[in-house]
Amino acid sequence: MKIAYYIFISFLFILLLFATTTFINFRLSGTINSNTEYLSTSTEIIRNSGRFQRNILNMISGLRGYLLTGERSFIDSYDASQAENDTILTDLSSLITDTNQIQLLKEIKALNDKWMDEYTEPLRKAKMLVGVSDSNLQVFNKFYKDKFLTGDEQAIQADLKQKFKQFSSLEYRIREERKAVLNKTVNDTRELSFGLTMVSLVIALVVVSFLVRKISRRIAAMTQMANAIAAGNYNANIRDTGNDELSSLGYSLNHMADELSKNISLLKRSNEELDQFAHIVSHDMKSPLRGISNVVTWIEEDHKQELSPKVDQYLHIIRERIVRGENLIEGILSYARVGKEELERETLDLNLLVSEIVENLPMDRHIQVEVAPLPVVYSEKFLLFQVFSNLIGNAIKYNDKEVGLVKVYCEEHLTEYEFFVEDNGIGIAAPYHKKIFTIFQTLSDKDASASTGVGLAIVKKILDGKKKAILLRSEPGKGSVFSFTWPKY
Ligand code: ADP
Repeated sequence: MKIAYYIFISFLFILLLFATTTFINFRLSGTINSNTEYLSTSTEIIRNSGRFQRNILNMISGLRGYLLTGERSFIDSYDASQAENDTILTDLSSLITDTNQIQLLKEIKALNDKWMDEYTEPLRKAKMLVGVSDSNLQVFNKFYKDKFLTGDEQAIQADLKQKFKQFSSLEYRIREERKAVLNKTVNDTRELSFGLTMVSLVIALVVVSFLVRKISRRIAAMTQMANAIAAGNYNANIRDTGNDELSSLGYSLNHMADELSKNISLLKRSNEELDQFAHIVSHDMKSPLRGISNVVTWIEEDHKQELSPKVDQYLHIIRERIVRGENLIEGILSYARVGKEELERETLDLNLLVSEIVENLPMDRHIQVEVAPLPVVYSEKFLLFQVFSNLIGNAIKYNDKEVGLVKVYCEEHLTEYEFFVEDNGIGIAAPYHKKIFTIFQTLSDKDASASTGVGLAIVKKILDGKKKAILLRSEPGKGSVFSFTWPKY
């Protein structure tokens, strides 16, 4: 399966778990909300039931006061309490949902109605008529005796009280039950969401470590392979039996390494062939050149008197061309030699090496060579000799100034040296700064026997072999500075 699918499915799964946790928590908050609402309703129910009972007491004492004194203020208090109780009964019936409570409330209402219809209201009316006639007083006294002194009215009161007690304790019980349910829900939800979060975390960890193991091990193998290729081991390859993106990358890397290996072998072979060719051609060309040189010498020696000045001049030109040809052959041979042989490294005092080079270079004009103290290095003498002699040789060769000045100096860096060969010579125009490093590229007259266009190509080849760079700063007429880096061993 593809790695992208693994990642996608794992994240989908984890997301699903988190969504479930969120949904559960959302549901819990709903339950808590409805319970909080219920609690305030319940408080309202208890408060109303208390007020109802207090109102009945008020009504009793109001009625008693009126019966004893006949004062209206007592009956007003009775009326106010009765009116409030009517409202309370309506409110209560809209607040309760429990069937037992509904039933109890019905019974309370019936008892209340009975108490009022059969006892309090008729008694009150009778009392109002007492002052009108004596017979009315008798009616009142009889009524009072029949209804109140029998204890029936007190039984209704006790019944009402009992019903209210039941009603309230039912309310308290419902409240406790809901509280217990709520606590359980909260605990269950807490445990569930904690469990789900933990499961998501564990799954996330497992998935991540699985992916990291699956990916990083293989990426490490690929990095190793790339490093091996960079170090020149083109036979390195990756064994990956998977069937995902990394497997195809591994396959492509193997393919690339194979192709590189083939191409490098081809390149090596053609380079070897080219070197061989250069060797053979150079050697083969040397003898005809030597032959021509001999013939010129014979002509000059045997026919000196017969030669006209013109022919003498031609012979001189032939000699110059022979020298140029020989220089070219030597240059090609040196170029072909570079990088072919394993060279020994040795401790080299570059001050000595450079002064040896300077002493052996032709100085046909007044040229001053300044060599700043150079380091003692551990390196291949032949290579450094080639680089310095070509650069210093050019600095002397291409100098048109009255006083030619050549400076050689060095800067030391952490892992390498940087050498400079500076001159105040003819300089090089910017478009040629790169071109002059290709073989046979000369900017001077082709006929000049000392100019073959091989020297800088040799320098470049040597530095390429060291994976180091050569830079040129130069302007026509203002001289040139060649700088190159060299590894510290
Ligand atoms: P050669 O010197 O044999 O021609 P090189 O490869 O050494 O070959 O140099 C290539 C060309 O670069 C030279 O022909 C010359 O025109 C130019 N050149 C090299 N060094 C310098 C220099 N220090 N100042 C001016 N021109 C230079």
